[in-house]
Amino acid sequence: MMDKKPFLTEAQAQQILQDVPTPFHIYDEKGIRENARRINEAFSWNKGFREYFAVKALPNPYILQILREEGCGVDCSSFTELMLSEAVGFAGEEIMFSSNQTPSEDMKKAAQLGAYINLDDATMVDFLDRVAGVPETVFCRYNPGGTFSLGESEEGFQVMDRPGEAKYGMTEEQMADSFRRLKAKGARTFGIHAFLASNTISDEYYPQLAAILFRLAVRLSKAADVHIKYINLSGGVGIPYRPGQPENNIYAIGEGVRRQFEEILVPAGMGDVAIFTEMGRFMTGPYGALVSTAIHEKHIYKEYIGLDACAANLMRPAMYGAYHHITVLGKEDAPCDHTYDVVGGLCENNDKFAVDRMLPRIDIGDLIYIHDTGAHGSAMGYNYNGKLRSAEVLLCTDGEHRLIRRAETPQDYFATLDFTPFYKEMFPGEDEKK
Ligand SMILES: *Cc1c(COP(=O)(O)O)cnc(C)c1O
Repeated sequence: MMDKKPFLTEAQAQQILQDVPTPFHIYDEKGIRENARRINEAFSWNKGFREYFAVKALPNPYILQILREEGCGVDCSSFTELMLSEAVGFAGEEIMFSSNQTPSEDMKKAAQLGAYINLDDATMVDFLDRVAGVPETVFCRYNPGGTFSLGESEEGFQVMDRPGEAKYGMTEEQMADSFRRLKAKGARTFGIHAFLASNTISDEYYPQLAAILFRLAVRLSKAADVHIKYINLSGGVGIPYRPGQPENNIYAIGEGVRRQFEEILVPAGMGDVAIFTEMGRFMTGPYGALVSTAIHEKHIYKEYIGLDACAANLMRPAMYGAYHHITVLGKEDAPCDHTYDVVGGLCENNDKFAVDRMLPRIDIGDLIYIHDTGAHGSAMGYNYNGKLRSAEVLLCTDGEHRLIRRAETPQDYFATLDFTPFYKEMFPGEDEKK
């Protein structure tokens, strides 16, 4: 069970406010490092194991650097994610490129970096050959179709629990055919990959997925007469967003995968397979928070608390109705005897971080800590209503803090518009040619 405690005290938050105004996302370096170490330990039984952090979850070079120091690689799916990873020093087998509907520029970039390329479709074999050439190692992404039952996602939002409805991956026949054609074009070692369910709270997800992929690997290596050396369990390991929700035990997950490995791959003579993962949410989700200030209160048919943050800073509640726990800093032990809707200022009625939430009495100026924004939080930010994306702060292991992304300014927001005829009015006193 997980009780929800902030990793930041009110005093620490006040300290940071001296340099960085709210709203900002803050990340806990210590938590991220310790979690990464647990994962590497849980899979240390597997010789070639590597976690490839899903960059889309938290695309910040400081975070990628921390994970690199902990032995992780990166999972990219776009040109800019590849650029970001390259800047941090990732190269070759430290990069997994799991994209879909891939533009040729992106594929070329991945090939140029020597990344492991994961093909989403059988038609990508010829595409890869044409735009970048077929490398020695290639992965293919599997879609078993039908439904994948492990219906334990708390969010009630398991995008990928009906693989038959998901746009990703290919059928088993297409995998075999792709492997044969890749082999004919010079590939020598192969990997398989699948992502079947999102935000799973179950120590059984990876083991069940592993069993499916291990059996598939045994069949494919015979059917296509190829050497399958890598099995990528992708992402989907979830975190408890709600208090009292059970938590995944990464050691039980690692052990569950090991049992399937011993049972299926070892007897098939495939004990040299390296296990890869591409977790995003589980890597950084709980080690991030959105810190915001209560700036207004409103009493109509319900009680509202208005924040200086909005859905542009954290889209999950508006987009999925996702629960994010809230703590009022400095009132951790106060009774939760008030019912509020905690809202942002977008002209959209779904811009609510919490609906009918029991919280302590909130006063204007209180610091509102929104939990678990470390993955798919800031990264999903957008600029609707001209709202500017907030800063990102790293709470370092030594207790210091560091601004790792500044807040956007109006200039950032306007940077792509053509203001030539209006420049003096927009930015008085600034040089037109800069
Ligand atoms: C999004 C994604 C991940 C990470 O998913 P999480 O749910 O954050 O673990 C991993 N691999 C691929 C291909 C993805 O698209």
